Amino acid sequence: MPKRIMPRGVKDNHRKYQICTNCVMDTSDSRITFNEKGTCDFCSDYFDNILPNWKQGIVGKDELKRISYQIRKAGKGKKYDCIIGMSGGVDSSYLCYIAKNIMHLRPLIYCVDTGWNLNVAVENIERIVKALDLDMYTEVVDWREMRDLQIAFFKAQVPYQDLPQDHAIFAGLYNYAMKNGIKYVLTGANNATECIRPPIEWVYQNDLTFIKDIHRKFGTVPLKTFPMCSILKYRGYYTCLRGMKRIAPLNFVKYDKEKVKRFLQKEFGWQAYENKHYENVFTRWYEGYYLPYKFGYDKRRVYFSNEILVGTLTREEALKELEQDPYPPKMQQEDKEYIAKKLGISTTEFERMIDGPNKTFEDYKNSWGMIQIGTMILRKLGIEKKKFR
Ligand SMILES: [Zn+2]
Repeated sequence: MPKRIMPRGVKDNHRKYQICTNCVMDTSDSRITFNEKGTCDFCSDYFDNILPNWKQGIVGKDELKRISYQIRKAGKGKKYDCIIGMSGGVDSSYLCYIAKNIMHLRPLIYCVDTGWNLNVAVENIERIVKALDLDMYTEVVDWREMRDLQIAFFKAQVPYQDLPQDHAIFAGLYNYAMKNGIKYVLTGANNATECIRPPIEWVYQNDLTFIKDIHRKFGTVPLKTFPMCSILKYRGYYTCLRGMKRIAPLNFVKYDKEKVKRFLQKEFGWQAYENKHYENVFTRWYEGYYLPYKFGYDKRRVYFSNEILVGTLTREEALKELEQDPYPPKMQQEDKEYIAKKLGISTTEFERMIDGPNKTFEDYKNSWGMIQIGTMILRKLGIEKKKFR
């Protein structure tokens, strides 16, 4: 994508341009560091912390068997022994298959309708659920509240425009699981496509203090039913007191995304989208237009770097791909008009909003200090492996 605007709001934006010699992360992440070989800290973290702890092959198979047994045993006598948050994307679709046919579990499929899902994603969900004979529950987020929070986020001028949707999905899933006594939450998170966590300045945490502060400042409709879950509630009450466990089964199987896509297509008539996260109109436009245009952040750098690290893409292929627009400019414009219309504002008003001065999470109340302490503890305990900054 051509550099239309220099990232504003980034604290260290006068830094000399540098790109990692191993992956494609660069100084558009203002806090990136490089070693003497020119390799970035994400790469070092992958080789030092993630790879040595990644149980694949026979070890992974045994581990998956052990976990499956544990989940089945804990869920004896219950209608469901686990819950899966399903988006219709490749990760969660494959997870449903693994859970039912490999782990022999009885999962409840949980979906969230934020108002932005593409038909292709909805069709994927329906196909998989039907073919695997699973039960599904869909939580529909109140559109007035969703819309109000999203407009508040745009007015706040922060990069994290996907946070309202993300929070609704994550909070809704955990709240529903706990309310219905389902202890095991299976997630499609995996090292193969997500071993690099995007920098905090690009994608901030599910921080309820921050979300509420933005809504307090810019919102107009009270959030009465919008799913909410603070980090304290999730990490403390749900995890420590009520024993909720998050399991990521895809880390224990060989996960080659392209092969899996072909498998899902053949087995379930599943359909692919151009990009892993493009199952949703809003996300497509937010990642493919808003972030690169307003902040200079191109999330494809994170996705491609991941693929380079796990060996499913070469650095040359990634660099070539990065020269192209994330998706066709005509479609970007159409999406922008569609989103403005759906949010109930004119395109001109929306564009004016987008062109306001950039802000970060540090401009609002947040729990970043607490999150850092929590993550430090989790990393020391060996529970959290990914770099976090
Ligand atoms: Zn790197």
